[in-house]
Amino acid sequence: MTAKLIDGKTISADLRGKVTDAVHRLRRDRGIVPGLAVVLVGKNPASEVYVRNKSKAVTESGMHPFDRQLPESVTDAELLDLIAELNADPQVNGILVQLPLPKHIDTHKIISAIDPAKDVDGFHPLNAGRLASGLPGLVPCTPLGCVMLAKTVRPSLAGLEAVVIGRSNIVGKPAAQLLLAENATVTIAHSKTADLPAVCGRADVLIAAMGQPEMVRGYWIKPGATVIDVGINRIPVSGGKSRIVGDVAFAEAKEVAGALTPVPGGVGPMTIACLLLNTLHATCMQNDLPAPKF
Ligand code: NAP
Repeated sequence: MTAKLIDGKTISADLRGKVTDAVHRLRRDRGIVPGLAVVLVGKNPASEVYVRNKSKAVTESGMHPFDRQLPESVTDAELLDLIAELNADPQVNGILVQLPLPKHIDTHKIISAIDPAKDVDGFHPLNAGRLASGLPGLVPCTPLGCVMLAKTVRPSLAGLEAVVIGRSNIVGKPAAQLLLAENATVTIAHSKTADLPAVCGRADVLIAAMGQPEMVRGYWIKPGATVIDVGINRIPVSGGKSRIVGDVAFAEAKEVAGALTPVPGGVGPMTIACLLLNTLHATCMQNDLPAPKF
């Protein structure tokens, strides 16, 4: 069997187009322009690339970017002052602090200082709690994109066995909560899970988010399963060069899975599209408007 490729580029372009149309209508009908502040601390090259891509996408969607760059030496107090300023700014509807932050910064304290209504990354404990309680709120972008991609293959996940490998607050745990909300039967696996291949083997939907290059082998996968590969790993290749691979051994998996996301071009572009969607939702909520349904 050769798996259907889940084309994250095309699916995310479609979502971004819908968000852009909704932003245009908001501006035309209500005079509201959503604003997103992306805060970058220091000079982590990967973070700089992510932030540049996010800002470009924000501008292309018709939203206002309010990017802020701070030196590596910034203190907790200075960062908290900036968050307070952005919380109070009515033009800023969404705030994203690019992670990871430098080691001397208390990341939990910074994330918890963001107004939950502007927390477009969905990492604030209040939004995490709302998701776990089945209440509406802002949901982390990457897991939201994963579930949207899975639903392009299987519009109803009800009753399916879903396995999420990874239990981070950013990807694994919220992905599991979203799958549960879709009525899947969910298992969360992690580095202490016994017999991971057997656990993966019962998954109709498998989300791999461990940060371990090509760890999920073809023989771990249930034939016909939908496999969503979140991993972004840079591995060395000959000639001193490197390339990006996922957490799934793609060449093997595509012979077994029913549908599979590529890396790159799968979950990555969906994450940015979902950030725009969350900023639009946050703007609507802050203005007592119903969130557009796509
Ligand atoms: P993380 O915070 O490092 O968490 C990794 C999780 O995987 C942990 O729960 C860990 O288990 C588990 N794990 C690690 N090694 C394992 C193993 N050998 N077997 C089973 N489980 C294992 O990473 P993250 O932030 O969730 O990110 C995961 C991956 O997704 C990374 O490659 C990251 O680059 C990528 N990512 C991609 C996007 C995107 O937009 N495409 C966005 C975010 C992240 P323990 O809890 O037991 O340690």
